[in-house]
Amino acid sequence: PIVVGVLALQGAFSEHIQLLRQAAKSLSALDPIDLHWTFSEVRTLAQLLQCDALIIPGGESTAISLVAARSNLLEPLREFVKVRRNPTWGTCAGLILLAEAANRTKRGGQELIGGLDVRVDRNHFGRQVESFVIDLDLPFLPLSGREDIGGGRRPFKAVFIRAPIVEKILPIREGPQVEEETLDETIIAPSRAPEGAVAKEAVGRPVEIMAILPGRVAALPNKPTTTRPEGGSSDIIAVRQGNVFGTSFHPELTGDSRIHVWWLGEVRKAIANRRQLDGVHTHE
Ligand code: GLN
Repeated sequence: PIVVGVLALQGAFSEHIQLLRQAAKSLSALDPIDLHWTFSEVRTLAQLLQCDALIIPGGESTAISLVAARSNLLEPLREFVKVRRNPTWGTCAGLILLAEAANRTKRGGQELIGGLDVRVDRNHFGRQVESFVIDLDLPFLPLSGREDIGGGRRPFKAVFIRAPIVEKILPIREGPQVEEETLDETIIAPSRAPEGAVAKEAVGRPVEIMAILPGRVAALPNKPTTTRPEGGSSDIIAVRQGNVFGTSFHPELTGDSRIHVWWLGEVRKAIANRRQLDGVHTHE
């Protein structure tokens, strides 16, 4: 079986487990010989080491990072994501933790795991009362199969609660990160490799923009718009880089398991590849 863990230190972890179970059911309905999955809450190092893949849920990234630090999980998590390169998905607070840099953070108040060469802007849309739900067309989800009658893709109801956005794709770093515009409130995840090594390994692992939020710029007149294309679109709300995937919103707070189904498919592919490679190596 493939073991998928959900980091269960704080936040919406049980909702993720529920949707993972739902997703596994639809996968085995599609393919009866689909392999078995195990979904488990992760609070300790021993539990983390059992996992092939991991979800970091939404919640409060400062709280999650604090508890992770106290539980001595920060370094093992960095190792899991950046050295062993296990499939990892962060939603909302989870995306913040998986970013290499984050804005609007108190210095000393929060640490990042990193893995995505991006800078996120925390609480980008403002406070809790400015939370919203919006119908998104997510290009990586399959079409409904009814295009013949104009079906297209069913929109995904995305929930944004004090959500971050990806405001910048960082240059792949060589050695320790040096930001050209180091803001007081920007924090950076520690490098995991000796100088030069990250740059070399990162070749061919570009940051892919998986989804943007259309039509929000006009609604937010006090946000800087200089880096955005004319015509309205917009904020980056889902990215992937190699084994790491992040979304600004909370698919775990809807009953819709389509992203979980898609992600489990990606996890399965990554693990099949890895086992094949391991097989090749043992024959050498
Ligand atoms: N604003 C929260 C943070 O900075 C994230 C909110 C969420 O996960 N819904 O961690």
